[in-house]
Amino acid sequence: MSHPTGLIIKAQSGFFTVQPDDGGELVVCRIRGRLKQDRRRSNIAAVGDRVTFTLNADGTGQIESVAERQSALSRTRTGPEQRNLQTEQEQVLVANPDQVIFVFSVRNPGFSPRKLDRFLVVAEMNHLPAIICANKVDLVDPAEAREMFRIYEAIGYPVLHTSTLTGEGVDELRELLRGRISVLAGSSGVGKSSLLNAVQEGLGLRVKEVSDATGKGLHTTRHVELIPLDGGGYVADTPGIRSLALFDLEPGELDAYYREIAPLVAQCAFSDCTHTHEPDCAVRAAVEDGRISYERYDSYLRLREEQQELTDKKY
Ligand code: GDP
Ligand code: ZN
Repeated sequence: MSHPTGLIIKAQSGFFTVQPDDGGELVVCRIRGRLKQDRRRSNIAAVGDRVTFTLNADGTGQIESVAERQSALSRTRTGPEQRNLQTEQEQVLVANPDQVIFVFSVRNPGFSPRKLDRFLVVAEMNHLPAIICANKVDLVDPAEAREMFRIYEAIGYPVLHTSTLTGEGVDELRELLRGRISVLAGSSGVGKSSLLNAVQEGLGLRVKEVSDATGKGLHTTRHVELIPLDGGGYVADTPGIRSLALFDLEPGELDAYYREIAPLVAQCAFSDCTHTHEPDCAVRAAVEDGRISYERYDSYLRLREEQQELTDKKY
């Protein structure tokens, strides 16, 4: 007999809440012991994983198998001095997300391109489609809002303009979320809760409860939850991504995660070109003739410098 299947929508301290595919009641599961020997380099199970499970007599369950992940939003935990030892472990925040939505407000608080660039690096590192949501567009001139995000549209990131005040973009956002697992990220105050409430009554509140609970206390295990949408699909607001320092990124690999820089790297004269001073650098040439925006190049340089400092500290 085959086991029932489901989706992990909550993971906390070794307990996994599974939404059965047949639409039945949520089942709180533990992981079958023998599974724990696998996947040492990554969480055995995470929110967003598809599983098979069995029911115990008392209504709790056991996860019997975890389907292979199609994608993940994860960070790698590395012991500071032991990079090459077996301490490196992938920590999956959300398994199988379909997209990451980065929310910024155009004003109050003002848009921070540096922060967006960091977020985009995280998305690229995880091979996840990124969508930019520019909220509070009611506070600025439409042309000004477009100009703010123009370079991102030019390199192919979808930019959605929204206002919870006028309702602009809310239908589009609802459509984007429908039927997908979306991770929402953005600083507090940019309007994430308001946007989610506009998409679906009470949704912002539920997501906020999850992230507030996570912030409390030193001993709180990372707590991510998928909040179901009426129209199908789930939203995760992971506090994890907010603090997602790029602490495992080697300065030399950063260029791979700036999507307009990456394709040029192979044309640089030196294979280890840092694109800062080397002769015959295809990246700098592209900045000079305007194919790469100066802002993004500058952001690359700064982030590279930051990563270099972090790396220097580590060793
Ligand atoms: P969160 O911390 O990202 O969840 O942000 P909130 O949803 O709590 O919103 C922060 C503040 O921004 C609140 O005072 C909201 O009323 C306000 N706000 C949210 N969306 C908009 C918007 O589209 N336009 C304007 N003008 N204010 C907004
Ligand atoms: Zn170069």
